[in-house]
Amino acid sequence: MAKISINMKTGEVDEKEIIVGIDLGTTNSLVAYVHKGKPSIVKDNSGKTALVPSIIHFSEDNDIVVGETAKQRLVSHPERTIYSVKRLMGKSHTDVSNYENLLSYEIIDEEDKLVKIKVGDTFHTPINLSAEILKYLKKRIEGHLEKKVTKAVITVPAYFNDAQRQATRDAGKIAGLDVLRIINEPTAASLAYGYGTKDSEPETIAVYDLGGGTFDISILKLEHGVFDVLSTNGDTFLGGDDFDRAIIDYWATQNSEMAQSINEDKSYGQAIRLRAEEAKKALSSSDQYTSEDGSLTITKKQYESLILEIVERTISKCTEALKDAGLTTTDIDNVIMVGGSTRTPLVKEMVGAFFGRKVHDDINPDEVVAIGAAIQADILAGNSEGYLLLDVTPLSLGIETMGGLMDPIIQRNSKVPSSAGRSYTTSVDGQKNLKVSVFQGERELVQHNRKLGEFILSDIPPMAAGIPKILVHFVLDADGILKVRAKEERSGKETEVTITSQYGISEEEMGRMLIDSMKNAESDMKIKALLEAKNEANSIVLASDKFLIQNAEILSDEEKEKLTALANDLRSVSQADDKDKINLSMKNLNDYSAPLAERAMNYNIKKALSGKTV
Ligand code: AMP
Repeated sequence: MAKISINMKTGEVDEKEIIVGIDLGTTNSLVAYVHKGKPSIVKDNSGKTALVPSIIHFSEDNDIVVGETAKQRLVSHPERTIYSVKRLMGKSHTDVSNYENLLSYEIIDEEDKLVKIKVGDTFHTPINLSAEILKYLKKRIEGHLEKKVTKAVITVPAYFNDAQRQATRDAGKIAGLDVLRIINEPTAASLAYGYGTKDSEPETIAVYDLGGGTFDISILKLEHGVFDVLSTNGDTFLGGDDFDRAIIDYWATQNSEMAQSINEDKSYGQAIRLRAEEAKKALSSSDQYTSEDGSLTITKKQYESLILEIVERTISKCTEALKDAGLTTTDIDNVIMVGGSTRTPLVKEMVGAFFGRKVHDDINPDEVVAIGAAIQADILAGNSEGYLLLDVTPLSLGIETMGGLMDPIIQRNSKVPSSAGRSYTTSVDGQKNLKVSVFQGERELVQHNRKLGEFILSDIPPMAAGIPKILVHFVLDADGILKVRAKEERSGKETEVTITSQYGISEEEMGRMLIDSMKNAESDMKIKALLEAKNEANSIVLASDKFLIQNAEILSDEEKEKLTALANDLRSVSQADDKDKINLSMKNLNDYSAPLAERAMNYNIKKALSGKTV
């Protein structure tokens, strides 16, 4: 019999377990849920704020505090207070080395191993640290609902790769949450604004997300309830913190004594930073700021001239995102504002002017992603059937083929979940093992792409080269986790692995990979064509050698000599790097051997038939 649970606070019968939505942010995190179709954000006990600073502090006794209390220890205990953990998720030390000096805590240098954080004598992983934030959010909502919560939807940036998504999922697990779905932040924001119901008209949406330290622009296509991320762009070190810094620099240029104190005294610097943030927030709704003691002032006009260049940088990212999506501003039907920094009037004005339309900012920009996550959770709970969800993979996924070539199986920007397969064969007679190396990236040679893992399909029964039929099948699930299966179809031998890649990829690196692939497209294609010609030449030479041995009795000495000479010519030109010469030599060999092959076939058929008595 099904159990009925009664909410002791409201006295209502809950037919279904509540699945919560979590925005696990770089600066702040939030938890939300939907009750009877109405989304709510869970606030702190004082009812003032829903934002939980994504900060974890370890006391000398290794007691853990999270959120606002931890934030207050940032200045006093910088080496025991961890922030920006999201930037480390699924990353190796090498990945984060360029911004390691911006962090006040210690990261262990183990090059390609996943990042570890050292606090005193203890070591923590970004997954464990994120789990602490999730535990805190879980406790907060359990206190609010007065019942246990075990299921969640968590949002991640659209550019998060599979390792980062997996790390987020693992953090949920450690926190005691069954993460039913990882969804993209811009998708969540669109859901919060009610876009993407099955019956709605097709729409193209730009989600402009300017937080404290990061900027993301995503272009989404919504059609028949399907969310398609057409492109993403942004800057992982651009946000409201830069606005604060602009104000600090402005004050410092006016007062050299203050400039010196900021440099020399950490806590003074922090106090000025807080004043700058206060000024910035005040200037979102008034024309002038003066600090309480009257010592610091700035006008809205002055402030806007300071940040103009920063906002312009975000606009140029919007241009790039549109270009990647193959669209122009007139194709965009709606613009959604996400992130606390979009409260800045100049940001709204410039984004609105760029897209030529009024931006959507009715929903609190800090809460919109968590609300969307809660709506998605409610859909998964089966309470709302008007929606379907879909994301895309940001980089192509494929395997290495002969000569080190990348053979993409799931293309960049393919819808997720997605599955695709391709058949391969062996290149050597009696080949027993086939190594499957999985790569991510857009370049033609795997050496320029990122290796996600490899495995060996072993015990292939002995067969001649080219006979085994090996199907390599990729399944990319809704969370972006990749399963790769290789199956030798004739023998049924198969191996499957889940790619939970060892280390992540930085967003910068991902952007660079895309740019590199475009810059090198022409030369890459040339190398690819050469390698393909060499591969083909190799197999033709092998086939020709085999043909000579198997059909010696029907070939004249002259034919044997000529065939050998042509094969030798091909063998030697395929050592050099002239694609055209290889192709020419292949053609000569093929032209000469085609009638011989036909003769051999007829002879063999006749021989086979004559052996049979009808
Ligand atoms: P988020 O990362 O989305 O939580 O955004 C936090 C950023 O929003 C921080 O840089 C805040 O200083 C900034 N912010 C919060 N409120 C305002 C406001 N009223 N005007 C301008 N910026 C704000």
